[in-house]
Amino acid sequence: MALKLDSPIEYIKGVGPQRGKLLRDALGITVVEELINYYPFRYIDKTKFTLIDDAKQDSQFYQIKGRLIHLEEKGFGRAKRLIGEFEDESGTIELIWFQNYQWILDKAVLQIPYTLFGRLKLTGYQKSMAHPEINFGTEQSQQALRWEPVYPSTEKLAQRGFDSRGFRKIMFQVFQNINPHVIDETLPAYILDKFKLPSRADCLVNIHFPKDEQSLARTRQRLKFEELFLMQLRMLQNMYLRKKKSRGYPMDQLLFPYKEFFEQHLPFALTAAQLKVFNEIKADLISGVQMNRLMQGDVGSGKTIVALLAMLWAISNGYQTCIMAPTEVLAMQHFQSLSELLLPIQINCALLTSNIKGTERNQILKTLESGDLKILIGTHALIEESVRFQKLGLVVIDEQHRFGVEQRAKLWNKAKPLLPHVLVMTATPIPRTLAMSLYGDLDVSVIDQLPPNRKPIRTLHFTEALRGKLYEFMKKQIAEGRQVYIVFPLIEESEKLDIENLDMGYEKLLEYFPIPPYQISVVHGRLRPKDKESEMQRFVKGTTHIMVATTVIEVGVNVPNASIMVIENAERFGLSQLHQLRGRVGRGADQSYCVLMSSNHLSKDATERIRTMCQTQDGFLIAEADLRLRGPGDLDGTRQSGLLELKIADIVEDQPILYAARKLAEAIIRKDPELKHPLNVLLKHRLNDHTTENPGVIA
Ligand code: ADP
Ligand code: MG
Repeated sequence: MALKLDSPIEYIKGVGPQRGKLLRDALGITVVEELINYYPFRYIDKTKFTLIDDAKQDSQFYQIKGRLIHLEEKGFGRAKRLIGEFEDESGTIELIWFQNYQWILDKAVLQIPYTLFGRLKLTGYQKSMAHPEINFGTEQSQQALRWEPVYPSTEKLAQRGFDSRGFRKIMFQVFQNINPHVIDETLPAYILDKFKLPSRADCLVNIHFPKDEQSLARTRQRLKFEELFLMQLRMLQNMYLRKKKSRGYPMDQLLFPYKEFFEQHLPFALTAAQLKVFNEIKADLISGVQMNRLMQGDVGSGKTIVALLAMLWAISNGYQTCIMAPTEVLAMQHFQSLSELLLPIQINCALLTSNIKGTERNQILKTLESGDLKILIGTHALIEESVRFQKLGLVVIDEQHRFGVEQRAKLWNKAKPLLPHVLVMTATPIPRTLAMSLYGDLDVSVIDQLPPNRKPIRTLHFTEALRGKLYEFMKKQIAEGRQVYIVFPLIEESEKLDIENLDMGYEKLLEYFPIPPYQISVVHGRLRPKDKESEMQRFVKGTTHIMVATTVIEVGVNVPNASIMVIENAERFGLSQLHQLRGRVGRGADQSYCVLMSSNHLSKDATERIRTMCQTQDGFLIAEADLRLRGPGDLDGTRQSGLLELKIADIVEDQPILYAARKLAEAIIRKDPELKHPLNVLLKHRLNDHTTENPGVIA
């Protein structure tokens, strides 16, 4: 039967209602078009044969020519299995099937030449393959492909026949019964010409049934380009539409006493980078269009003061502002440093967290609603229903990636009638490629310079043998009036173990640093916020010499007098996290140190992480390395947002394609933002049509 692109998958021979439902439920594939957009993720070279003796890599796939010399069913009941022995001129390998093997018993003949394909399992010197494919020489016709596609699948799908072989069979059915010419082109001809891309119809045939290596490479190139290009085009158009649509509060004047603050009360001269970023923000605030800006700046680059200036600008125009921070500790720090900065001009700010209750809380809420309170600082407690502003004009969000999109939206909705301006601050240096994909529809400002007179932090890698030396050094620094952080890692995400680990470290520490004369703060996630705060405060005020902590201090904490950051079990931390932690020191004028303690036996990745840390302090280089080592998945906490659910492109590997795609998308949106030009009609359709988007992503 002839198939159409919109035929339900159940119409395909070999699918039917039950397996159709499976595909619908597991992958969201409902019609033929979505199925053919389900791509293989790699290919196997079927012309290559390996001698059994040369197959030496565990878990690798091999194709072998030889003969079955033995076949026997073993075991009873659920333990029943089929065991075979396969031989070539170099050696033998064991084959095992645990189920569905009756047809092999029926079909296989000993001592006849067969080809075998499967994943090698090495157990000592013993070689075996479970559920290998055997080619008995009869089914060659339909799948005599040199490059055999491997499809993403899950255990559940594979059990019901949708392993790679199953997908291949179905794709074969589809392409037997469909005329590839019905597959529409999705990119305008001028783009195909410009980049010399093959047609979509060719690509869809070729991605499933590759002709040769070269054309497969071109096919993949086109599909990756298309995916990244449409993603960028969509983002840039969204940004355009948002700007066109969303009026923002115009804020154009700087009055007494705010003007005086800018002119006289800044505690230091802004760096050129801070000034540049503030000017970008200011232009947004004046523009009458709602601001959505990401302020990106490495740890210690001085984002706080820039945010404060933006807030004062908004307040000078009669609006209220707030800062939302991801943790209590951070909110408290912001509150303290802002209160101090604002002393000379006597602007009130208040701290609101879930621990602030009763009359104090009521008082804050009242002054907020009346409009008397201009600056509210807090945690996610700010998004609660009861928190009502009189005239919210600017929202500052610190460390964006910790808040969900929904939480942010709740905060935005507290401003009426227009959305407030939004400034998001992040210290996570995001590599350009990732930023392009994640925040493609935010304007981005980068503070790419540290305040002057910062000495580079010296980073050292110590193993246990040097612990004595480390403690001697700490004593010397403490004697000179400096303070020290010691950070312990999260262990298997168990808070309990975490604290045990920290307790043990603390006990050991006491042998070298008895109380008195030494004073030590201990901070971890289990402490009540009040205690956490008082412990933090003791360190901030300089009462304690050492702060022993879990990673709760990772973000934001600012104690310029601290000069040593010791990171225990450094091999357990990710690169970005190490960098964030190191950023807690080197904030004053003194020489600072970061000591990475680790065991002697490090994995390749851990070695690479520690080496990178010792070599550079540049947050962007570190983020690039992190992306390389980890892949983009964990970097951002945005997985659920769907932005990075790419089907075929890879943010790390395909950077050049991404840049080209971004450039093209920018040029098009600049000239024809609403895609009204006849040449761009295909693109317009494509952006409006989501049915072919991401038919299923396997988590
Ligand atoms: P981050 O970007 O990590 O949030 P902060 O805003 O906490 O950085 O600033 C780090 C430290 O640098 C603070 O102690 C701050 O007072 C100081 N600082 C910020 N800007 C400057 C500047 N232009 N000159 C000197 N010190 C500055
Ligand atoms: Mg900060």
